[in-house]
Amino acid sequence: MQKKGVLYVVATPIGNLDDWSPRAVATLKAVSVVAAEDTRHSGRLLQHFNIPTRLVAVHDHNEAGRVQGLLDQLGRGDDIALISDAGTPLISDPGYRLVAAAQSAGLRVVPVPGACAAIAALSAAGLPSDRFIFEGFLPAKTAGRCERLRQLAGETRTLMFYEAPHRIVECLQDMLAVLGGERRIVLARELTKTFETVRQYSLTEMLAWVSADPDQQRGEIVLVLEGLPEAVGEQDWLEVDRVLGILLEELPVKQAAALAAGITGLKKNALYERALGLKG
Ligand code: SAM
Repeated sequence: MQKKGVLYVVATPIGNLDDWSPRAVATLKAVSVVAAEDTRHSGRLLQHFNIPTRLVAVHDHNEAGRVQGLLDQLGRGDDIALISDAGTPLISDPGYRLVAAAQSAGLRVVPVPGACAAIAALSAAGLPSDRFIFEGFLPAKTAGRCERLRQLAGETRTLMFYEAPHRIVECLQDMLAVLGGERRIVLARELTKTFETVRQYSLTEMLAWVSADPDQQRGEIVLVLEGLPEAVGEQDWLEVDRVLGILLEELPVKQAAALAAGITGLKKNALYERALGLKG
C-alpha cells in the first residue's frame, strides 16, 4: 500500500526572523508544497531562508475549495506544510478546515511549533497564567463588542484578545464601560519587533495612556486582561459561614471544609482556615 503524506502545521515568526527554528526551515524545504495564506507575503519569507518549495494559496476565501485537492495530494504520498502570514496557523488564521479534514481522513498531522502572539504576550504579561482563555478578535462594532464583553464579564480566568490598532481606543473605552476601571490589563504591541512594548495598567490608566500617545495606536496588538477576582465579598462570607456552621455541627474541620468547597465552589484551603476560625 502506498505511504500517505504528512500534513505539517508550521508556525512562522511574528516579527523577528531569528525566532524561526531550524526544524521549521528544514520542514518547508523537505515538503512537496507549502500551503500559505498569502503566497506573495510568504514568498519573501521563503526566499530569505533559501527555501525553493512551491507555494499554493489557502486562505479564508478558497480553503473549502482547496481542501479536497490537498487531501488527494497527501493521499498520493506528498508531504504538505501549512503556514499562515505570521505565527501559528489556525490561531485567528486559516487552516482549520484543512486540518479537520486531514484528521477525519486518518492522515498524520504534525505540528511544528513556534511563535504565537497570544502566548508570547501572556508569557510577559505578569497576569495569572495558570488558567486563561483566548477570545481572538472582538466584534468590530461597539454594540457587538459590548455584548461580547458583557458575556465575558464574570470570567475569572485571564482573557486574551487580538485587536486592530485603529480600534484599540474604542475597544478600551468599551472594556471600561462594561467591566469598570479597576481591572489590570496588559498591552503587548509589536512583539519581537523594534518598537516592542509590554505595559500593565488598570483599565482606567491604560485608556488614558493609549489615548494620549498615538504611537500606542499603531502596529500589532495583543490585550491580556485580568479575570474577575475570585475574592468573596463580605456579604457572601455570611452565607459561607452559615454553611460551614451547619457542617461543623456534625463533622470535623477538614471534612466540613471539603464539603463546603463542593457546595460553594470556593477553595478548600481558604474554607479550612475559615472553619478553624469559626471553631476557635
Ligand atoms: N496566527 C497568529 C498568531 O499565532 O499569533 C495571529 C494571526 S492574527 C490574523 C493577527 C493578530 O495577531 C494581530 O492583529 C495582532 O493582534 C496579533 N499579533 C500578530 N503578531 C503580533 C506581534 N508581533 N505583536 C503583537 N501582536 C501580534
